[in-house]
Amino acid sequence: MLKRKYYFYFYFYFIILLIGFVLSISSCKNQYDDVYQAQFYVFGTLVGISIWGVPEEKASQAVNIITQDFQAMHKNWHAWHKSLLTDLNQALASGKVSTATQLLPLLKLAKLYSRQSDGLFNPAIGQLIRLWGFQNDDFSENLPPPSAEKIAELVNLAPSMNDIQINGEQVYSTNPAVQLDFGAFAKGYAVDLAIKKLQKLGINNAIINAGGNLKAIGKKGQQPWFIGIRHPSGTGVLAALTIKGEESVITSGNYERFHEYNGVRYSHIIDPRTGQPARGLTSVTVIDPNGALADAASTALTIAGLQDWHRIARQMGVKYVMLVDEAGIVYVNPAMAERVQFDPKNKPQIVVSQPLK
Ligand code: ADP
Ligand code: MG
Repeated sequence: MLKRKYYFYFYFYFIILLIGFVLSISSCKNQYDDVYQAQFYVFGTLVGISIWGVPEEKASQAVNIITQDFQAMHKNWHAWHKSLLTDLNQALASGKVSTATQLLPLLKLAKLYSRQSDGLFNPAIGQLIRLWGFQNDDFSENLPPPSAEKIAELVNLAPSMNDIQINGEQVYSTNPAVQLDFGAFAKGYAVDLAIKKLQKLGINNAIINAGGNLKAIGKKGQQPWFIGIRHPSGTGVLAALTIKGEESVITSGNYERFHEYNGVRYSHIIDPRTGQPARGLTSVTVIDPNGALADAASTALTIAGLQDWHRIARQMGVKYVMLVDEAGIVYVNPAMAERVQFDPKNKPQIVVSQPLK
């Protein structure tokens, strides 16, 4: 009898303790502790959005707005389907003056980053990109490379962002060979705009990831956002890092868009000096608060290669760079080395450069 009573009190106190414990946890938990997640397909890539700290309804409304914004950008900036950009390209080729109000911010940034990268980032080489078959919705085709004569012809015409003249809202080109393609920084710029829109909507903790081009703000509760950088092989994660405040992490790689012909892989990043696809690096990651800059820089550094990336990174003013070469060796500046974490069981060889300053 006594034993039974003893058990009863024991269970009673245990249950009271348990309820108290659960209540104390839920009271210190944020009301909207779950991360709201959504995905949609645009820019030929999957866009993922994670939002923390707001009611589900507010998050889902924001995702709808961002989806529409992305679709509008896709339509306005498309380099081969009819868009504001293809209209502008037609005018540039025929020497006409256009009013390109909606494209002006992109044009001005393109001119700046092109100058800072010594023309390695050169969105005026649309004709070369098309010649290599990269203005294409379908990448499954095994296309042969274009002829050396055709490549040389376009390289000699030397289209550059310096040929684009901007006068108020009016735009024209002094070189009819200029055809704009914003593919190298459109996604970085798009995530900048999308994050700005979320902030306007009162959302201050989020990640927007457009196919390896991401921007994050705030935190996930008490924890900073922790993100992975895709392995250049196309599967798995190469490294991970935590986000500090508002930052973009942009990776240019040749695992998604490339052509293969006779066993040779041709990258979709073209060296404007030679008209040939960039070789040597399989992945370049740049972190910067400015997504458009990080994206332009990741493309420019892919072309700059191991010899020249440090100089170009300094000229562009980026502070965190990671490059991977064809042998899988990872090159980082010291500030990046401090931030990036590798799987200890699968750690690559790492070479740390001089500081970028
Ligand atoms: P991803 O699309 O994988 O993020 P990038 O940001 O490097 O890769 O952009 C590659 C795209 O940029 C190409 O598909 C092409 O449209 C365009 N492009 C290729 N070479 C250059 C270049 N030298 N300068 C500017 N744009 C380029
Ligand atoms: Mg880029």
